[in-house]
Amino acid sequence: MSEGICRKTVRAEATVIGNEALGSGCFVVTLEVPEIASMIEPAHFVMLRGLDPGFPYLPRPFSVFDVSGGDTEATRIEILYEVVGSGTAAMARWTGGEKVYCLGPLGRSFDTSSDSSHSVFLAGGIGIAPFPFLARRLKTPPERQILLFGARSKSALFALDRFEALGIDIRIATDDGSEGRKGNSVELLSELLDELSPSTPEVFACGPTPMFKAAQKVVVPRGVPTQMSLEERMACGYGACVGCVQAIDDPESEDGWRYALICVEGPVFDAERVLYTRPVPTDS
Ligand SMILES: Cc1cc2nc3c(=O)[nH]c(=O)nc-3n(C[C@H](O)[C@H](O)[C@H](O)COP(=O)(O)OP(=O)(O)OC[C@H]3O[C@@H](n4cnc5c(N)ncnc54)[C@H](O)[C@@H]3O)c2cc1C
Repeated sequence: MSEGICRKTVRAEATVIGNEALGSGCFVVTLEVPEIASMIEPAHFVMLRGLDPGFPYLPRPFSVFDVSGGDTEATRIEILYEVVGSGTAAMARWTGGEKVYCLGPLGRSFDTSSDSSHSVFLAGGIGIAPFPFLARRLKTPPERQILLFGARSKSALFALDRFEALGIDIRIATDDGSEGRKGNSVELLSELLDELSPSTPEVFACGPTPMFKAAQKVVVPRGVPTQMSLEERMACGYGACVGCVQAIDDPESEDGWRYALICVEGPVFDAERVLYTRPVPTDS
């Protein structure tokens, strides 16, 4: 995987331009923040903190749904978010004009340099968030991009209009069968890999940990190049709090594995490097 780490991170004061409710507790907030919008890449993230009294003390991490504004360079970032606690509840109250502390771009972005036959977006729930931006940045033409979107039910299928507008093949799975296949996005992935064989697509994944674990079992044995954008709670976003660790394979480490900070080395990791079960030391 190429570097993908932004050479420069800035701390900026962003202005809320709009905050659209999508239903089911999800919103898209648009922030005017040219210093960050002009540099950010898909799966980089920002740390956001509202300056309003209702916002928690620590900032919260968010990837970028898309960028917009400006004739030559983007001036705005859009963030798709789900209300899950006090920070996102405070964000849902923004109506426009609020000032927001914004630190970014942070982390490692998706590597968009490959020219594989097809690009597949494997999304679970709010994990759909980084993909509209990624879809626009890839070399793969939209007719060879495929979205596999798994959600709880039809009411939790956000942002499909973005992918429809790009002409991307959309395949859906819902837990309750209210839309698309009854099942999950990894089942869709298994079927798709059979369908595309002998071609091997590149897979970009974002969603909950159970989805990543299931996806690894499908892609790693088949040698399908897969980049996973992981999520973990994080307080700083740049490695100071050491709170967001993930065990990864590392042949150069004494035991063949080590902990990586998701905020600094990730959030994007190659699927075959992520270890959900730590190897037993050879001398024990
Ligand atoms: C790199 C990165 C990118 C992210 N991008 C997005 C995005 O685009 N859209 C989006 O809606 N969310 C995203 N998240 C998750 C988002 O940061 C959390 O939902 C948010 O911090 C919750 O803040 P809160 O104060 O509302 O909830 P809290 O009160 O802090 O927590 C409420 C609940 O959410 C859980 N939670 C909090 N943070 C996380 C997390 N990072 N991962 C998993 N569970 C968490 C807590 O364990 C708790 O159960 C991202 C996280 C990371 C690390």
